[in-house]
Amino acid sequence: MSDFIFGPVLSRRFGLSLGIDLSPDKKQCNFDCLYCELKGAKTVAFMQNPPSVQEVVKSLKHSFIKFPDIDVITITANGEPALYPSLKELISAINFLKGGKKLLILSNAACIHDKNVQNALLDIDIVKLSLDTVIPSTFKKLNRPHNSVSLEQILKGMKEFGEVFKNELALEILVVENFNDTRDEFIALNHVINEIKPSRVDISTIDRPGAYRVKAVSSETLEILAREIKNIPVIVAKREGFTKKNLNLDEEEIIQLLKMRPQSEEDIDNILDENSKKLLLNLLKRDKIKLINVVGVNFYKLN
Ligand code: SF4
Repeated sequence: MSDFIFGPVLSRRFGLSLGIDLSPDKKQCNFDCLYCELKGAKTVAFMQNPPSVQEVVKSLKHSFIKFPDIDVITITANGEPALYPSLKELISAINFLKGGKKLLILSNAACIHDKNVQNALLDIDIVKLSLDTVIPSTFKKLNRPHNSVSLEQILKGMKEFGEVFKNELALEILVVENFNDTRDEFIALNHVINEIKPSRVDISTIDRPGAYRVKAVSSETLEILAREIKNIPVIVAKREGFTKKNLNLDEEEIIQLLKMRPQSEEDIDNILDENSKKLLLNLLKRDKIKLINVVGVNFYKLN
């Protein structure tokens, strides 16, 4: 296995995933997030010594022979993959090779205003972008961007990209105690997210020690904050110690719950009691609601 390829790892949402690391030797990122799982590092605006497209593709071909049954190829980096200067060429080459496998990129979105980056990402099956805050002061403190990065440009770029991208766009909010864990943060996020119109929003918190001493929030806090995101399917990552709610809802209350936003199968399992789940299945049978797949996750939605 080459330095550029890692895995495969089993992902609950996407199946067996093979990773491509475009900066295997050192962290190269235009953010220095407080929660980063890599060591803190000086931010950069460009990637130095990137591998060539040919090198990456050669390694990928070898890995396909060894792991023919993977479901997804994930482009990532020890840092930010969109800093890779030949992104469009690399994506075209992978698309040519990948057959029925899906291509996913995990990006901090710092370059999404760049038309070349937008153009390159159009050919990816699933684009997952980070958006922890839309408030400039929180962005500066939490994501600690390079001085070439502007939150205003990121938000503008995300909206532009959301309008033209035809495949699956997921946004990820990582919540850190005392930084972006307030209702006001999420009300502001909701406003912008509804303009971007992603397929799904994932909300999580720190689950491993990071570069700096910052703290996770509880599962309950994540759930409360998630309620501010309206209309868009949301996945809230469950932390250890999370307790099931077992709510008893009647049909009308279930409809109201889904009116607020679609609910994942997992969330329904965690929040409803057995009787309410039966009522929900009944609504499904009567076509009042439907089950849709959004970026690998099933959601109940009003019909
Ligand atoms: S964007 Fe990702 S890699 Fe870069 S500092 Fe933040 S968490 Fe780390």
